[in-house]
Amino acid sequence: MTVYLVGAGPGDADLLTLRAARLLAETQVVVHDRLVDPSVLSMVNPSAVRIDVGKSPGGVISQEDINETLIAVARTHTHVVRLKGGDPFVFGRGGEEALALRAVGVTCEVVPGVTSAFAGPLAVGIPVTHRGWSRGVTVVTGHPSSDDDNYFGRIAHRDLTLVILMGVGRRALIADQLMAGGLAQSTPVAVVEQAWTSAQRVVRGRLDELGRLNVCAPAVIVVGDVAALDVDAVMGDAASVHSR
Ligand code: SAH
Repeated sequence: MTVYLVGAGPGDADLLTLRAARLLAETQVVVHDRLVDPSVLSMVNPSAVRIDVGKSPGGVISQEDINETLIAVARTHTHVVRLKGGDPFVFGRGGEEALALRAVGVTCEVVPGVTSAFAGPLAVGIPVTHRGWSRGVTVVTGHPSSDDDNYFGRIAHRDLTLVILMGVGRRALIADQLMAGGLAQSTPVAVVEQAWTSAQRVVRGRLDELGRLNVCAPAVIVVGDVAALDVDAVMGDAASVHSR
């Protein structure tokens, strides 16, 4: 009994690792999330049992119930895949699932996936650490668990790109805190919806417009100078991106 905690990537099945594809083809059971793309589910062994534990926001399946489900199927099957969107250890509570399984003696192997935090911006031509534009990238959740009412103000930093996951619902508040924390109102932002799926869409603007942009989850929000870049659009004329 082994549970493979597998990263499904952000969307299209082409972005699976070879290891993930092999494990999906061989598995007896797949326990998957809401965000996993149909093209990835089509890679699953056709005779495998499929269990959808997708949590819609405010939905009913608790993390404890998911852990219990995994433990129960692991006890009755030798090969179980727990398929999670993106990378299993970038948010999404994969670490908790691994600990819960190991705590009861179930072998758990983790397979990395392409995370939306980086593949989302890349999908619309944004290099998150473009030389001369950004000294690094910070990846955060839009829903910090503490009641800290100035969280984003404290992490605001002009030289760093900020990538926010699960932030669409709180984007106005996030923008206010970032501006109060010192980021210019004109700081570029980009919101990448459903990256690497057929519904991919990007909306760009300024930080002081972020709260009013018409966008839907799931999306990654990019804040910082690089959010104005689109290296795909400047392929023939890279000078403007290189010189700064
Ligand atoms: N483990 C996942 C993240 C899980 S948290 C990963 O590594 O990508 C769920 C959040 O991820 C969503 O609210 C959204 O912010 C982001 N997300 C996941 N898939 C996405 C996609 N295809 N396009 C844009 N954002 C996505």
